[in-house]
Amino acid sequence: MACVSFPYDAPVSQTLFDRASLVTPGGVNSPVRAFRAVGGTPRFMVSGSGPYLTDADGREYVDLVCSWGPMILGHSHPEVIAAVQEAVARGTSFGTPGEGEVALAEEIVARIEPVEQVRLVSSGTEATMSAIRLARGFTGRAKVVKFAGCYHGHVDALLAAAGSGVATFGLPDTPGVTGAQAGDTIVLPYNDLEAVREAFAAHPGEIACVITEASPGNMGVVPPLDGFNVGLKELCAANGALYISDEVMTGFRTSKAGWFGVDGVRPDLMTFGKVMGGGFPAAAFGGRADVMAHLAPAGPVYQAGTLSGNPVATAAGLAQLRLLDDAAYAKVDAVSAEIRALVGEALTKEGVAHTVQAASNMFSVFFTDRPVRDYDDAKQQEAFRFTAFFHSMLAQGVYLPPSAFESWFVSTAHDTRAVERIAAALPAAARAASEATA
Ligand code: PLP
Repeated sequence: MACVSFPYDAPVSQTLFDRASLVTPGGVNSPVRAFRAVGGTPRFMVSGSGPYLTDADGREYVDLVCSWGPMILGHSHPEVIAAVQEAVARGTSFGTPGEGEVALAEEIVARIEPVEQVRLVSSGTEATMSAIRLARGFTGRAKVVKFAGCYHGHVDALLAAAGSGVATFGLPDTPGVTGAQAGDTIVLPYNDLEAVREAFAAHPGEIACVITEASPGNMGVVPPLDGFNVGLKELCAANGALYISDEVMTGFRTSKAGWFGVDGVRPDLMTFGKVMGGGFPAAAFGGRADVMAHLAPAGPVYQAGTLSGNPVATAAGLAQLRLLDDAAYAKVDAVSAEIRALVGEALTKEGVAHTVQAASNMFSVFFTDRPVRDYDDAKQQEAFRFTAFFHSMLAQGVYLPPSAFESWFVSTAHDTRAVERIAAALPAAARAASEATA
């Protein structure tokens, strides 16, 4: 950890964090929210409005996390809030089918051509877990290929990410995931089609599916090289395996039709979450109708959820998706490009080695001057410089993801004033990055 001082304090957040740490492991309900990678006290937020968050100490931040992706219209968008209020007034959960879930499924199917049928769930983790089960049930095969540095939620079989190199066999990365659970997972280096070809050759008739982030954002933003996704699709088709594109992060964010709308490669199954829930727990998996037909009650592969298709969550998601037209995406793309340019200029001015990588409006800053194509490349960066950069931005009222290995997110609400505040904070943050020591 770099030696960074915290010249500003957050007494109310600190008190809340102390209370939280007594009753919750590590004081947070999702590890990524803690500031473990950067040090300091996680900020407890009390409200959000447009591009801003306000913490429990009353400080306002320009938010470049956007709840890790979902808040693409900014916080408290009036039309989303109105849809939620209307839904809540009618009741919060019925445990029966409802029209909202039909409408949300129709919206997804209409936007994303390869999705012929879709099943709603409550989290991205559930979506990928269910898609893997369905792929195994459909093909009658056990093995799953995933890529190092891709995150698909905390599904046991998909936490195996350690080790790059051809056909690294799932050694569990976390205690609690047994060898048996991870033993059918083959972890390969990202952007390496040859490794995938070799895995299929080494395991003829055994691989149920290849799952990949459509354009990874969980090792920082590392877009697929030209031909990578289509190569995966072709290798899967040639070997009787399913190609699963995880669009939990990119879905409905990188374009109206997510990353599919960018590269046009047609997956067999896809997973979604984040933006489609409008800030509520709603996620989905879907794809080819003949594959989805294997899902209970139509078919034998079991999958279920008490709160799946929850009426409040579906109302929020639907309201958000309906507001996401071409103009909205153009706006998010433009503000993302503007912020990327400002960050690049500030770091260049201070002589800080960096690479800004983008996938549509998702982007991240790697503290290295070499392009990042896979997880090993990402790990080569000087992450200690990010720590200094992060704390300087935080002190100046800009909230970045508290890790050098995450995407930054913007929204339609990031207006000139918000961008000016980011621009004003960047010179000092770039200087802090340049002066940082490992
Ligand atoms: N897949 C991807 C690509 C993700 O980025 C995430 C979460 O960040 C997930 C799956 C898991 O989603 P959730 O956190 O909703 O379980």
